[in-house]
Amino acid sequence: MLFKDVIGQTALKARLAGMARAGRLSHAILMLGPEGAGGLSLALALCQYLICDRVREAGEQAGDDACGQCPSCQRAQKLIHPDIHYSYPVIPKKAGDKPVSTDYITEWREFVRQYPYGNVYDWLQSIGAENKQGNITSQECAEIIHALNLKSFESPTKILVMWMPEYLGNEGNKLLKIIEEPPANTLFILVAVQESLILPTILSRTQLVKVPPLIDEDVAQGLEQRAGLDPGKARLVASISDGDYREALLQLQHADDDWQSLLREWLNAILKNGPVAQVKWVDTVSRLGREKQKQFLRYFNHLLETAIRIGAMEGKEGPLPESERDFALRLNKIAGREQQEAILELLDDAAYHIERNANAKMLFHALSLKLYHIIANKSLILIN
Ligand SMILES: [Zn+2]
Repeated sequence: MLFKDVIGQTALKARLAGMARAGRLSHAILMLGPEGAGGLSLALALCQYLICDRVREAGEQAGDDACGQCPSCQRAQKLIHPDIHYSYPVIPKKAGDKPVSTDYITEWREFVRQYPYGNVYDWLQSIGAENKQGNITSQECAEIIHALNLKSFESPTKILVMWMPEYLGNEGNKLLKIIEEPPANTLFILVAVQESLILPTILSRTQLVKVPPLIDEDVAQGLEQRAGLDPGKARLVASISDGDYREALLQLQHADDDWQSLLREWLNAILKNGPVAQVKWVDTVSRLGREKQKQFLRYFNHLLETAIRIGAMEGKEGPLPESERDFALRLNKIAGREQQEAILELLDDAAYHIERNANAKMLFHALSLKLYHIIANKSLILIN
């Protein structure tokens, strides 16, 4: 992958290329950033930059991106360069199996090609994990040590990209020695989302590179260029995806209008139409599946935040999509600022429980009742 194919992150790309040129990269770096920010893409672009023949020839005079043409670039692009190794969580192919990452290398190449902004859930589903837990196994650690101790094939540098070191259990301690004193010209690039889940022994041996969430403008531009969205729609979707390009793509699968009418139905059921309509609505939403339920809550969350902003800015809140402004204004009529903030807390809480497999029907029933109390009774006491 070229740096120019990574969405946004302009400053970070230039910094990484600069560090690589000047030989200032530590031999073990940890790219840490939230989902959908592009950590994996950045790591792949950095690999290609380090391995590109033209960049190497140009030395300090090289530009900020790999050439994309030379044989090394071409191999890096297809993830078939013999000096770039990949480790990622995998599952046993059959019971008792001790899987290593290369067992899934074909699937991995396909996944990176199709979903460079996918998360570990997407990856594990794509290899048929269903409810199985992925792992970076102790066999995999042995393979890494073996591969990095071999002489490099084509490039002076050997690189190991480990995606999601959070999935490395205590067996990861096998890698400490090689991370601390790697064979010459060896680079570890770890790409992670959650710092607290990484073995502290590994964490302390890496140079931290923070990957910030994308800015809305970059998400919008990505959507225009890659998904062919018109600028208005791209801006709208970007504004509700929290700098997470994966989330933006998910939002696309479900048109924003649908969320709006689903939300309208819900509020009507709660405030006007009564229990039968509520039961029907809860049935519909409980069939959507976890990912969509989370997206729906996120959309509601976004509208509430917009409503609060409109309330606070008194007409100076800047451009907003028309349908969104209308809806937000209506939210301001049915609930005051404190109530809206109370609802935001409820939505956060609900998303947390959905993530942890709560029963959707019970959850949305309870949520409907609480919303009713907050809005209709205008009482904040009830939610505590
Ligand atoms: Zn090249």
